[in-house]
Amino acid sequence: MNDVDLLFTHCHYDHIIGLPAFAPIYDRSVKVTLWSGHLAGRMTTRQMVDEFIRPPWFPVTMDVCKASLDCRDFVSGDVLRPREGVVIRTGSLTHPGGCIGYRVEWGGRVVAVITDTEHEPDKLDLAVLGLIEDADLVIYDCTYTEEEMEPRRGNGHSTWQQGVKLCEAAGARGLALFHHDPTRTDEELDEIEKLAKDRFAGAFAARDGQTLKFPVSLHKKR
Ligand SMILES: [Zn+2]
Ligand SMILES: [Zn+2]
Repeated sequence: MNDVDLLFTHCHYDHIIGLPAFAPIYDRSVKVTLWSGHLAGRMTTRQMVDEFIRPPWFPVTMDVCKASLDCRDFVSGDVLRPREGVVIRTGSLTHPGGCIGYRVEWGGRVVAVITDTEHEPDKLDLAVLGLIEDADLVIYDCTYTEEEMEPRRGNGHSTWQQGVKLCEAAGARGLALFHHDPTRTDEELDEIEKLAKDRFAGAFAARDGQTLKFPVSLHKKR
């Protein structure tokens, strides 16, 4: 098994709950490097992981991990170079408790991970624009629609419509609709995907286990 770099955006449950079931941390032949920056100055990456992988929430502590674990801390704005040729730029998103957005550059391609974040009406977030500029793929927080947004202000989430506006302004090509409201049905997601695709050809609903080929906008098969 290959070595792994795992970058946390933040540590709300929906973003950490899979870690205890992540097989590589139990493999002694693997080096796992865990990165986080959203708690900079408040808690280290190691402390964060130790907090939630322990009784009574989990039967054992991180000591049972056989992989060689390396916990790294950074602050928003740092540029990370986890492997040769891989450059990861970081920035702050707008989310309760903080959240980090990532721009991963490798082999002449750019993938940006922008979740979770809340936008202001009729404004484009400059930090987000910087992370997604000219990106091949933007994975974006599409929890709500613009119509649903008003009573949900302050929850720290965004919409597919805002994702389209940001991608257009930044010259990004692919838009993966991601982080949907948990109450969405498959039919609603199909409808959202259709509406988004009509507005922006590179938009599509992200799926579990999905493999993408670049350029994303030309790859429309499921
Ligand atoms: Zn969150
Ligand atoms: Zn989330």
